[in-house]
Amino acid sequence: MFVDIHAHLSFADYDADRSDVVARLKEQRVSLVVNPGTNVQTSRDAIALAEQYEFVYANVGLHPNDVHQITDDDFHTLDALLAHQKVVAVGEIGLDYHYPDANIPKQHQCFREMLRLAKRHDLPVVIHTREAWDDTFKIMQEESSSNLRGAMHCFSGGVEEAKKCLALGFKISIPGIITFKKSTLPDVVAALDIEDLLTETDCPYLAPAPHRGKRNEPSFVVEVAKKIAAVKGLAIETVAETVHQSAAELFAVSQK
Ligand SMILES: [Zn+2]
Ligand SMILES: [Zn+2]
Repeated sequence: MFVDIHAHLSFADYDADRSDVVARLKEQRVSLVVNPGTNVQTSRDAIALAEQYEFVYANVGLHPNDVHQITDDDFHTLDALLAHQKVVAVGEIGLDYHYPDANIPKQHQCFREMLRLAKRHDLPVVIHTREAWDDTFKIMQEESSSNLRGAMHCFSGGVEEAKKCLALGFKISIPGIITFKKSTLPDVVAALDIEDLLTETDCPYLAPAPHRGKRNEPSFVVEVAKKIAAVKGLAIETVAETVHQSAAELFAVSQK
């Protein structure tokens, strides 16, 4: 059974055919989907969808590109939403220096605030980091504690970054990018144990081959698992089983 630990399934991209997209999950044997929040509204939306489908879970998060307008009230709301029974992690949170208008001090402050919320609720975190490895590690190290754990979503680093994440108690989540011709993710996957890996689509973005360029959806996560199996010389069932177990453990869900 396959796992998509990061699918923006409540985004408007699926408004016209969401129930069909969800129906395809069963066909493709995808048995666990985690839908992240990026701000108060999308966190609420993720929870609403998780209430509708047993095997869909929610994260409550604050994306680094969404920190501009955040208020103290918003933090209180996010804190309250974390108590919902289908919320399995704080995410996505992190740093993103890609855009020229990135408010870096505010991103740092919000990242720390959300890490502290996760520790207080004893929940794992799902981290988004883009062009910001040094500061991401610095903050993760400074905020590290015995119950800080989680996943590096849409992993974009090399073997060195991956090993640092593992040492901090984080899993490496492999996106569809691994199926792209020039991707260096196969090297990362080859260097790590299968137990250290998770799979995701980050849909609606970044559809894997052979769907590249189309709208992505969680059922395409099978392509990510296939590629991992090929790189590691493992049976696809072994990859699916191991990743499922890792995800179920990290997010403390029991569905099979
Ligand atoms: Zn992200
Ligand atoms: Zn995302």
